[in-house]
Amino acid sequence: MANDYYELLGVARDASEADLKKAYRKLAVKYHPDKNPGDATAEAKFKEISEAYDVLKDADKRAAYDRYGHAAFKQGGMGNAGGGRGGMGGHDPFDIFREAFGGGGGGGIFEEFFGGGGGSRASGGAEHGADLRYDLEISLEEAAKGTEKEIRYRRPVSCKKCGGSGAEPGSRKVTCPTCGGAGQVTSNRGFISFRQVCPSCQGAGQTIEKPCSDCRGEGRVMDSSTVKVRIPAGVATGSKLRSAGKGEAGHMGGQAGDLYIIIHVKDHELFERHDNDLFCEVPIKFTLAALGGSISVPTLFGKGSLKIPAGTQTGTTFRLREQGIPALRGGRKGDLLIRVQVEVPTKLTSDQKAKLEDYAEACGDPANPVSEPFVEKAKKFFR
Ligand SMILES: [Zn+2]
Ligand SMILES: [Zn+2]
Repeated sequence: MANDYYELLGVARDASEADLKKAYRKLAVKYHPDKNPGDATAEAKFKEISEAYDVLKDADKRAAYDRYGHAAFKQGGMGNAGGGRGGMGGHDPFDIFREAFGGGGGGGIFEEFFGGGGGSRASGGAEHGADLRYDLEISLEEAAKGTEKEIRYRRPVSCKKCGGSGAEPGSRKVTCPTCGGAGQVTSNRGFISFRQVCPSCQGAGQTIEKPCSDCRGEGRVMDSSTVKVRIPAGVATGSKLRSAGKGEAGHMGGQAGDLYIIIHVKDHELFERHDNDLFCEVPIKFTLAALGGSISVPTLFGKGSLKIPAGTQTGTTFRLREQGIPALRGGRKGDLLIRVQVEVPTKLTSDQKAKLEDYAEACGDPANPVSEPFVEKAKKFFR
């Protein structure tokens, strides 16, 4: 059973915000894990008082707690309301504390933490940068062999002048006048009250005294970036590569997003790709098809040689093993499939014509030059 939040902090039920803060600050210093290394009891106590303060410092949560007690924050309660994407939604008190230590500097470790009028950073502040997408066109050869590409693109990066804070160097951050530092505002419509992120500070609880002149207070500026990407052999159209941290810079120290590179493989003049196999049509002379021989065929990796047996029919497909695309995640390489098209000459010299006529005569009845099995079938059909 959880302890009463007011008792935990040692304050009266009608304690003012300032009293709460004072009480919490005193206890937090006493039980902070950095002061009590390895002391599990102190750590548990610290978590408890942090949780209590997290609720009571927020007017709405405090009202809910006063009415419903701990039940207000169990399962589907409002305990997690306003948690941001930045991973510091205020659920783990240690995270907030580390953040406070990091930014506090020399002047009192809690100054930064409490500076924002109640330290309500849970709903605002650090925010993940967005992921970016880059569509990259590569050739079939590059997809087969793998390659390295340098990509240039524009993205918001952290402003160098203000270090991403958005504040002109030397100027301070001040408590947001709209929300009084809470990061949220409450508006009433009849009996229902809505809580929403403060429009002035976007939930950060603080605004900038003097915006940075380089980024106009945004904390980020557009800049061109270059990234080298290794493209593995075997990629296909739609393959997605991720370059971690190369997306948009985060807000207020939040993590940068990622860059996703979407591969588009260009059509090839000779080869058609089906999964990891390649298809290619090669025309051959009808004399070669009849007599047999050897031809050189193109492959993605150079030249190959293909033996054409005597009597090869048009449309026959030959398989050149492992002359296709390598498998992206290991496994068997694809094949190259060559389909031959037997070409009938359209122009004959008189000499060629005479020789073909001799050939036809040698075959027998020149008026009926179809094969015997077909003639047999046709006879049945016409009877
Ligand atoms: Zn700036
Ligand atoms: Zn505000």
